[in-house]
Order: sequence, then C-alpha cells, then structure tokens
Amino acid sequence: MGNIFRPDMVAKKVSDIDFEALAEKGFRYIMLDFDNTIAPDHHKEPVPYSYDMVERMQNAGFSLCLVSNAKSERSKKIAEMLKIPCISYAHKPNPSGVLKAMELIGAQKNKTIMLGDQIFTDVAAGNRAGVYTILVDRYTKKEVFYVVLKRFPEWIIRKICRF
Ligand SMILES: [Mg+2]
Repeated sequence: MGNIFRPDMVAKKVSDIDFEALAEKGFRYIMLDFDNTIAPDHHKEPVPYSYDMVERMQNAGFSLCLVSNAKSERSKKIAEMLKIPCISYAHKPNPSGVLKAMELIGAQKNKTIMLGDQIFTDVAAGNRAGVYTILVDRYTKKEVFYVVLKRFPEWIIRKICRF
C-alpha cells in the first residue's frame, strides 16, 4: 500500500520547495496540479501565488504542463492565463493523463516530477506513471465535498506510512 500512495518528497507549500536543488539532480519537467496546489480549490482563475510559483519553477529551468482532472474549459483557460500547456480530464489516479502530458512536452520519466496536493489522485498517478512525486499540503481548507471525503483516509495513510 505504501508504494503508489507514498510520495518521494513532502513539502508544506510549493513555495517551500527548492526547485534549483531538484534541477541540479537532473529534473527538468513538472507535471503540475492546479486545484489546492497553486491556487484555492476549484478557483476559476490563477491567483498571484499561481503566477509566482510557475515563474519560480520556470526560472529554475523547468518546463511545465498542467495536469488536471477538471473540465477542459476551466483548465484550458487557467493554462492559457499561466501560459503553460495543459491536459484536462486527466483521470488521475490513472497515469494516462500524466503520460499524455509528458508526451506533449517531450518529457522523459527520469527527469519528471508530479506535483500535487492529493495522495489518491496526484501521487498515485505520478507513481504509476513512474515519475518522481511531491506532495504538498492543501492551499486552503475550503474544498468541494468529494475532496473533503478523501482527506480522512489520506490522513490515515500518512499516519501508517509516516510521511
Ligand atoms: Mg489538487
């Protein structure tokens, strides 16, 4: 159980991550979750923090692709505003969306990171796609109900697996 749900790294916030250090290790691509990772949950548009984080990752030398389970209209608009490519209806925890995003930007597995706030979607999809996974704490506590439902089992897994 620890396998597909265990991230390779955990961080409180995206802004806490040392992207330069990750680039030095050879990583070049980030598959990026939007909701509650770089913006409030189900927000229609990026917030200043979203732009800051995207810029920080790009300045460290990363190419990004948004990988979202959200409807294509909303994620497409967000990606356009952030000026990065996007795969919507990603079907995380299925790895297909991550793999599609990697193909879209020409990313190799051993140079790719999946970054998100949910164990059952982001971390599981990233691990199944065979990339490095980073889990961050949610951006805000306000979430849609079906995400709230997943937080308790997430908490249990984090207790058992100690991350
Ligand atoms: Mg999310």
